[in-house]
Amino acid sequence: MTDTARILHGKPYAEAIRAEVAQRVERLKAERGVTPGLAVVLVGDDPASAIYVRSKGEQTIAAGMHSQTHRLPADTSQDELEALVVQLNRDTAIHGVLVQLPLPAHLDSARVIALLDPDKDVDGLTTINAGRLAVGAEGLVPCTPVGCMILIRDAVPDLKGKRALVLGRSNLMGKPMAQLLLAADCTVTVAHSRSKDLPGLCREADILVAAVGRPEMVRGDWIKPGAVVIDVGINRLPSKDPVKAAEGKTRVVGDVAFAEAAAVAGAITPVPGGVGLLTVACLLQNTLTAAERIAGRA
Ligand code: NAP
Repeated sequence: MTDTARILHGKPYAEAIRAEVAQRVERLKAERGVTPGLAVVLVGDDPASAIYVRSKGEQTIAAGMHSQTHRLPADTSQDELEALVVQLNRDTAIHGVLVQLPLPAHLDSARVIALLDPDKDVDGLTTINAGRLAVGAEGLVPCTPVGCMILIRDAVPDLKGKRALVLGRSNLMGKPMAQLLLAADCTVTVAHSRSKDLPGLCREADILVAAVGRPEMVRGDWIKPGAVVIDVGINRLPSKDPVKAAEGKTRVVGDVAFAEAAAVAGAITPVPGGVGLLTVACLLQNTLTAAERIAGRA
């Protein structure tokens, strides 16, 4: 037991990223006359998605960028959505296009993602960008793993040979996270719902990234003493207060049992207030990078 885990709050990191982005935006405007533009497409009325999309729009404007939000009704057809993506691909004022997932069940998200211009794919979800990441070529990398990597590099300055375990293998999170850790010379294991002995795998990890979407699944006795624990999970549970719970109020917890893990880990991210705060900041960074590259080619 170390009992001294450093808490990796996301706020100062997110503020530093946003400040650097805002400076680079001003430079791009002054030197190339280009204002980076981000278009976010939201289909339907999922309340959590609506909150994310509003926050993305506000932060885009605060960074000095152009923001477009396209809110489409829940019964939007595949053809209508695809027509909008094609239009945004062609729009020279837009450098980043993000289709908020999940889409309503009748829509095929894989087909929509495949249509995105890879150079505007600021979520890094196209096959082209996944391939670029896998071979170490320049591309756009999913925002949340990029944010995790910023926290990990700060907590572990020398990553060479460190054992990293990524819990979860989604295209948005687990797989790109594993690629980034591999590129940083970690020895990487990816675990998932069919893996055997998750506690044992976790206990070997110097760096543990949990992205499973299972509330507090990772317990304190799964953590190697002194390990760096990055909790990506965002899980909504009923409020602990029965009156509030009856009113439908919820609380957010991560994939890691925070208090138990913090007693063993060397450093740990809280939920909320950890990784989640870096995701939008990294989205702004990706949009700016896309704009700089497009401007550089013009
Ligand atoms: P996802 O697409 O549902 O993937 C979950 C992964 O976890 C899958 O690979 C799944 O394994 C694995 N898994 C599920 N249950 C498991 C279990 N009991 N044991 C071991 N592995 C298990 O989710 P995601 O998009 O990667 O997101 C993961 C979590 O991160 C969610 O809570 C999400 O809300 C959160 N998230 C947060 C941010 C942020 O900004 N902070 C961004 C993205 C996601 P299989 O492949 O075998 O099914």
